[in-house]
Amino acid sequence: MTSLRTRARLIEALRAQGIRSDLVLEIMKELPRHRFVDEALASRAYENTSLPIGFSQTISSPYMVARMTETLLQGRQSLGRVLEIGTGSGYQTAILARLADAVYTIERIDALLTRARWRFHRLRLLNITTRHGDGANGWPEQAPFDGIIAAAAPAEIPVSFLHQLALGGRLVMPRGTATQTLLAITRTPEGYVQEELEPVTFVPMLSGDR
Ligand code: SAH
Repeated sequence: MTSLRTRARLIEALRAQGIRSDLVLEIMKELPRHRFVDEALASRAYENTSLPIGFSQTISSPYMVARMTETLLQGRQSLGRVLEIGTGSGYQTAILARLADAVYTIERIDALLTRARWRFHRLRLLNITTRHGDGANGWPEQAPFDGIIAAAAPAEIPVSFLHQLALGGRLVMPRGTATQTLLAITRTPEGYVQEELEPVTFVPMLSGDR
């Protein structure tokens, strides 16, 4: 069931888990998550869990998407230029597209990116630029970014991400291997300020052939 009631229940669950941004919750209420998973899984799209999207990858849980988006916003109502590493299903990308002037997203698995592009087209999301390839070095040609978000965990934060952050911008991503932590790093005039948010479980950020 993809009824409005099912979606409303998910929004209430996110609120109960501590998501405070009405803006993020409103966008998630409207955006059809069932369009970002296989038809066979569509009936589970409004459960608060990650789901398989093929190629050993997953669409992140609604809670994690909400938490990361809210953190990226830093209480603002909109974002300028945003970089995303790991397009996956494109669900997080679509949410960012509603908040940002422009979203740049990189995915290393071509078949996933092809599907995601089709979804952006169907939903008339015109401010998304996609790239197939390794995003572990960011997207220097399009930098600086007001926000950078990654849905795959490297062992260490790539310095290129820090360099590509605009002043006042924020990077939100998991770091770690066996145990991972969600980090928020803000670039201030005094330097980079890092906060550790919570323990998380993401797929590894792969580079090159790995
Ligand atoms: N936000 C996405 C998450 C997908 S899972 C969603 O909710 O659907 C993370 C994605 O990161 C996977 O699709 C994986 O292929 C991709 N990924 C992992 N390492 C990467 C890298 N170095 N460059 C680009 N994409 C990468």
